[in-house]
Amino acid sequence: MPQRLLVFLLLFASAPAWCDDRMTYEQAKERLKPPPLPEFWVGDVAGLAARWEQLRIGTCDVIATSPGGRPLHLIAYGEREDVRRRANFNSAIGGQDPAAYLDKNARKKPVVYFVGPVHGHEVEALTGLVNLIQVMETGRDLLGRDRSKLRELGNRCRLLILPAGNPDGIVRFEPRTAFGMTFAEFQFWGQGTWSDHRIATWPDSKRQHPRTGPEIGFLGCYFNDAGINPMHDEFFAPMSTESPAILKVAMQEGPDLAVSLHSHQAAPVLLRPAYVPLDEQQRVISLAEKCYELFDARELPHGKPFTPQAEGGPRPASFNLVSALYHISGATSFTFECPHGIDDPRACRVSLEQILEIQLTLYEAMMQFALDAKQHPSGE
Ligand SMILES: [Zn+2]
Repeated sequence: MPQRLLVFLLLFASAPAWCDDRMTYEQAKERLKPPPLPEFWVGDVAGLAARWEQLRIGTCDVIATSPGGRPLHLIAYGEREDVRRRANFNSAIGGQDPAAYLDKNARKKPVVYFVGPVHGHEVEALTGLVNLIQVMETGRDLLGRDRSKLRELGNRCRLLILPAGNPDGIVRFEPRTAFGMTFAEFQFWGQGTWSDHRIATWPDSKRQHPRTGPEIGFLGCYFNDAGINPMHDEFFAPMSTESPAILKVAMQEGPDLAVSLHSHQAAPVLLRPAYVPLDEQQRVISLAEKCYELFDARELPHGKPFTPQAEGGPRPASFNLVSALYHISGATSFTFECPHGIDDPRACRVSLEQILEIQLTLYEAMMQFALDAKQHPSGE
């Protein structure tokens, strides 16, 4: 049918070289226009190992190797206090005595665990945590700004810092920042594509896991090199290396407070942890209120506190890495979402410097919260 063929050819010829629901890797690369990245921005794992060799105060351990052969570094500040432990967490809870797992009240310092990006394109927290480490080493961030108050808070805690929770995904994130991207570009790098170059979108993108096989095009930066999203590993029969290592640190250390650091297009927000007791959700709300007060005082944007609730309904929340962090260690655990600063009318507009402020302000709020809880344990 030559006429139909002609119409088809005309339509095809008039379409742009790319459409916003499809993108090839080459097209995504062509569209890259990242802003000049300032000195304080860290969007890659290159150079991190050398940086950790220079640590004078913190200690560095490799807790796992990613499927792509890359190390996961855990940086710690403050002595580990060994206290009595007799049972794993869920048996201790079964025995109606959380202290049988680990007598957290017997420790002098609270333990705060920062789990850096397990989604490779969410490098805002990589920047935040490398700056936090610089603060703990020198009292100043990578801009040279005095942060002695933050350091003083950090010195009163034991800090466990995993700057990069998914180094494979971070390496795949060639732009090094999502700042200024269109929504389609941001989706391409985050979720990746199907083999016909359609950009993968939630929730469909989560319906194949591991994300491997002939249907997959560009592997998005959510995933490690084995196609696993560490937020949704099979925690009872692990498919990969990052999540079990993250959880093992929690099991051994028994943090008082733990965060999984993420980013999204909207305003900064602490998310409701699913499948944890309502009292734990309420603790996260109390922390969110303190954190949002600090954001207000510093003229930083933020979302609203969530409402505590039990799981249920036709589409209940998933049991994710944050749920598992609580169930292996009793830590008050939550997800934090930071804005990327993408160029979209629905997105929260922030500068790269504001992103750093948002990260360091959250860490400050967390340390203060953990210290306050140590002084006034619940029920006393
Ligand atoms: Zn994420």
